[in-house]
Amino acid sequence: NYRCRSAFKLLEINEKHKFLRPGVKVVDCGAAPGAWSQVAVHQVNATGANPEAPVGFVVGVDLLHISPLPGAAFLSRSDILEPDVQARIQRLLLGGEAHVIVSDMAPNASGIRELDQERLVELCRGVLCLAEKVLCAGGTLLCKFWDGAESNLLRNRLTEAFRDVKTVKPLASRKESSEIYLLAKHYYKH
Ligand code: SAM
Repeated sequence: NYRCRSAFKLLEINEKHKFLRPGVKVVDCGAAPGAWSQVAVHQVNATGANPEAPVGFVVGVDLLHISPLPGAAFLSRSDILEPDVQARIQRLLLGGEAHVIVSDMAPNASGIRELDQERLVELCRGVLCLAEKVLCAGGTLLCKFWDGAESNLLRNRLTEAFRDVKTVKPLASRKESSEIYLLAKHYYKH
């Protein structure tokens, strides 16, 4: 049982693009209540449930509390935009790198469209900043965004840092009409 229906979006995207595989290390940004982390733990074999496959690892971060999940390490009540939080993520990866960063983060809706959009852009910048610190060369980034003028700007930023950037819209999110995900593959590490 998943903690939230959003799990089906990640399952659907991964079904097609297969970036979550056994042995992969994942950072899940905006992880509460933890459904994406549940999917990730299972796909990367983070609990070692499959003894024949390599064992991965999941680090989840959220402003809110996230209930414990075997196979995952959570930073609750933590803001991804804080450099100190990013440093703690690095430490949880034991100085190693992540293969995948996923972000399902959204700002609390203020009702003012421009303001919400601005905050979402800031969150995405924070995710890119985290990528510079922890994402391995060749790594993958999946980031929620809202379709609109700004999405091209973010796409362009991603295109500078990744070889392959595409927009994905899972069927499971069709009701949230403007929600899209940017999937960026093959990180150029510099
Ligand atoms: N993917 C999650 C799941 O499947 O359980 C659902 C994520 S929910 C749509 C978005 C989350 O982003 C919220 O829990 C919110 O607290 C978090 N968030 C927003 N801004 C954040 C920030 N600056 N740092 C960390 N988390 C943030």
